[in-house]
Amino acid sequence: TSYLASNDRYTTMTYNRSGKSGVLLPAISLGLWHNFGFVDSIQNGREIIRCAFDLGITHLDLANNYGPPYGSAEENFGTIFKKDFKPYRDELFIATKAGYDMWPGPYGDWGSRKYLISSLDQSLKRMGLDYVDIFYHHRPDPDTPLEETMGALADIVRQGKALYVGISNYAPEETQKAADILKRLNVPFVLHQARYSMFDRWVEDGLLNTLEQNGVGCIAFSPLAQGLLTEKYLKGIPEGSRAAKDLTYLNVDTVNSHIEKIQHLNTIAQERGQKLSQMAIAWILRQPQVASVLIGASSPNQLKENIKAAEHLSFSEEELRLIDKIVS
Ligand code: NDP
Repeated sequence: TSYLASNDRYTTMTYNRSGKSGVLLPAISLGLWHNFGFVDSIQNGREIIRCAFDLGITHLDLANNYGPPYGSAEENFGTIFKKDFKPYRDELFIATKAGYDMWPGPYGDWGSRKYLISSLDQSLKRMGLDYVDIFYHHRPDPDTPLEETMGALADIVRQGKALYVGISNYAPEETQKAADILKRLNVPFVLHQARYSMFDRWVEDGLLNTLEQNGVGCIAFSPLAQGLLTEKYLKGIPEGSRAAKDLTYLNVDTVNSHIEKIQHLNTIAQERGQKLSQMAIAWILRQPQVASVLIGASSPNQLKENIKAAEHLSFSEEELRLIDKIVS
């Protein structure tokens, strides 16, 4: 059936400025890392994206190797885009990236100009897009000169294949160097994508300050620690959940080692009259440098629950202190 976006899609979402740029991002964005590969149901993926857009989520985040298999999330997104979202292209802010393992041989990984430029060309074909709104270098490459990697990002913008650029997983010092080069090259560096949740607070140790000083926004990924910071694992490990799939970054051991903290955090959330997932998202949005919280979802209902984080964003000193104590 054909899709007509909800008329109310812009009534509740807040849009935050990314750093000092012209880019406004929804406070909550949707990532397609999981649940959008050929191994997943494309109909479910289609419903998730429709639901997201109807809720005002204008920003969708992809990468060359999301799937599995690699490339399949982009390809599925391309199929969904063609069916449902072509009329809304200018209302969408679409991201992709390159930087991790993608294809065999010396040119399908890390940060060379060769890799970045050919990877983005492949991504555009898979998604059926003429350009992406933002293209990221996905992780720092210790062996390629930063000038080369940033130079490739600059040329990608000049070629019209991306409107803006960003970096991901760069430490504060590397981020500063990248910002200096991109400034010299006159390239719009608007976002840094970094893991940030109650269970991983590394960005507080310098990165957020560096970003602020450079007028760059932060978009925080895995804010729910891949589902740990929800009610999902309170009563064991549900079938079909990410932990049940026993993936590298989330498995039974991770759940077991965090469960006590999750229970304590859940009590605080309940006292706030909020779901744990909503509190986890609100807790990140309290940082002024964070333009958007980048969540994943395996169903439209998860999105609907999570988006309600916006209904209670403020924290008392006491709540913050308790959370610090639990997670430290
Ligand atoms: P989250 O921490 O938001 O985890 C999402 C998962 O949590 C869902 O898939 C679902 O898992 C579970 N979940 C979400 N909401 C609920 C809920 N209300 N109740 C119960 N369970 C819930 O983020 P991700 O780790 O998925 O990362 C988000 C995005 O960030 C990615 O899609 C990607 O775009 C980006 N990213 C970027 C990286 C980078 O290096 N730049 C690295 C990692 C991610 P389940 O399947 O179990 O239901």
